[in-house]
Amino acid sequence: MNYAMALDYQNCINCKACETACKEENGVQLGAHKQRIWVGAVEGTIFGKPYMNLYPSQCNHCIDAPCVSVCPTYASHFIEGGIVKVDPSKCILCKGCMEACPYDARFVDDTMVAVDKCTFCDHRIDKYGTTACQATCPTKVRMFGDLDDEDSDLVQLLKTKRFFFQKESSGTLPKLFYIVPDDDSYAKQSIGHDTIIHTWDEFKPRYDAAKKRRSPEWKR
Ligand code: SF4
Ligand code: SF4
Ligand code: SF4
Repeated sequence: MNYAMALDYQNCINCKACETACKEENGVQLGAHKQRIWVGAVEGTIFGKPYMNLYPSQCNHCIDAPCVSVCPTYASHFIEGGIVKVDPSKCILCKGCMEACPYDARFVDDTMVAVDKCTFCDHRIDKYGTTACQATCPTKVRMFGDLDDEDSDLVQLLKTKRFFFQKESSGTLPKLFYIVPDDDSYAKQSIGHDTIIHTWDEFKPRYDAAKKRRSPEWKR
């Protein structure tokens, strides 16, 4: 198993239902400013017309996760399926992982007195097969699944669409797949010139090799 998530970000309406569902599901303080999931907004103008691009985001559960490598107490670790988690009982709040993460996906949870972040809702995968944020989104932005399951909705989607990653140059092999919009003008407006666009056939062998290299750590 190699869990990942695709994001049809063009459908995001910034309603924050995912944020509320995540807090409710995972016991993150409701109303707290720090959270496991967020929507990045980028504003600009094209030919005098204002626009706003929305990029829903959370932890990328990177295959080469620097947050895991730097953690001195093994509080940050992988579990099965390549999900990156934090064991709050081992966290000494050195914040090395927060500095190492290129996505700013971690925060200090004041109630647990430990670093926290998205867990891909690992506690409910067996029962529901998906995450609270996917289940709640009214415009179906997210699709959670297993990259190793060729029959999964996730892989079927990635086989028919092109996709890109945020900050791919950081080299962490992230697993949030941003789907290239069908509308060319929206794609041009929302995807940076230096962003690499991928296809499933070209992407899969690279991630399979990375998984083979890192997966011995995934059972800790
Ligand atoms: Fe770690 Fe950040 Fe990657 Fe999540 S997004 S696995 S916190 S480096
Ligand atoms: Fe590990 Fe906690 Fe330090 Fe992060 S803050 S590196 S989880 S001990
Ligand atoms: Fe929150 Fe679960 Fe979605 Fe992660 S997968 S952002 S923990 S609801």
